[in-house]
Amino acid sequence: MSRLRIAELMARHAAGLDPESLPVAVAAQIIAQCVEPIEANERLGLRAALGRVLGEDIHAALDVPAQDNSAMDGYAVRAADLAPEGPVRLRLAGSSLAGRPFTGELLPGECVRVMTGALLPAGADAVIMQERCTSEAGHIHIPGPARPGDNIRRAGEDLARGQAVLRAGQALGPAELGLLASVGCTALAVRRRPRVAFFSTGDELAAAGEALQPGQIYDSNRHTLYGMLGRLGVEPVDLGLVRDDPVQLEHTLRAAAREADAVITTGGVSVGDADFIRSLLGRLGEVAFWKLAMRPGRPMAFGRLGQALFFGLPGNPVAVMVSFIQLVRPALLRLAGRSGPPGPPMLEVPCATAIRKKPGRTEYLRGHLAADPDGQTRVRPTPDQGSGVLRSMSEANCLIVLEAAQADLPAGARVCVQPFEGLL
Ligand code: AMP
Ligand code: MG
Repeated sequence: MSRLRIAELMARHAAGLDPESLPVAVAAQIIAQCVEPIEANERLGLRAALGRVLGEDIHAALDVPAQDNSAMDGYAVRAADLAPEGPVRLRLAGSSLAGRPFTGELLPGECVRVMTGALLPAGADAVIMQERCTSEAGHIHIPGPARPGDNIRRAGEDLARGQAVLRAGQALGPAELGLLASVGCTALAVRRRPRVAFFSTGDELAAAGEALQPGQIYDSNRHTLYGMLGRLGVEPVDLGLVRDDPVQLEHTLRAAAREADAVITTGGVSVGDADFIRSLLGRLGEVAFWKLAMRPGRPMAFGRLGQALFFGLPGNPVAVMVSFIQLVRPALLRLAGRSGPPGPPMLEVPCATAIRKKPGRTEYLRGHLAADPDGQTRVRPTPDQGSGVLRSMSEANCLIVLEAAQADLPAGARVCVQPFEGLL
């Protein structure tokens, strides 16, 4: 990403907007356009590719299913043998089981017992469900007519030979692993994982395991970030805890930019005396924006540090998670080469309680989504919405998203929610 590009993007998307309060959607658009997806591939065995991004188009090397087979347990027949009305009596010539086909040819006046998935015998063109038939001394009574093709799964019905099974950019989950196995794929190209360096900043922070001195708190942000990055399937590079010291910060930022595709810091982006991140970013790289019209998460620096994307998240633990979900996560998925939407669609549900809100910023409340005894699914904001109360994120199972222009809402009003499942 070139210097020109960030300036040009800001001019194109943020012209006339208050740089002290950039709308979230504009910020997301600028970030997305700064991300250049990784194109380098590596080759992995099928199971090792779980959670990765496919690096090539995969075409079916064979028809799935490979041959015509029965869609149910029953009898394979020649449709022409059956009468338009009334039963006919066919000689039972043998059976075709899944994996053990009938080897002969079905002759006129005959039927063959077939099981679901078993190959259709040569000469047969329909299958009659077994529940409709009665058997009697080596013969089967079939009640009525059948059309050619009834209850048959055709060769290539699922996937035809040569057809695209999956495209590059597809995230590989359980369904994709099975689909690839069904076309005989054992190894495939996947995108290299993005390397994401991260560290916490703050003179008040102590690392877990250290004794707390007066005025100190434990560093939690590095652990939530580690968790969120791990769920995304990127390669996390933990650079530890850095004091509010410009020399140390500069040293760590330079090291991070050398080895990572993206760098994330927490803390030090407000306007306090010890908040050095934004000015360092301006000197070592380039700042696109540093303040958003969102709550929590107002101070957030985004820009470029060498070739790496840079995200300077706020210090407050809830703000870290919310700004990561809204802005960092989609960017990292794009960097990883993923195509398609970055998360599950938002839901619209009634909110059980009234909500107070001032227009101006997009707000993300921690919510709990549950089905009430009357069967209606409603969301309830968690009791404590302070941006430092990390417990609220653990008690919640979704975010309630209130658009910037939204004002107070009465109880029962419909709101948009983002369930955590699939996001965190
Ligand atoms: P800052 O943005 O650096 O002013 O930090 C805002 C608030 O978040 C302060 O109350 C910090 O103590 C707290 N905070 C900053 N970094 C962390 C961290 N890594 N873990 C937990 N709390 C933090
Ligand atoms: Mg700080």
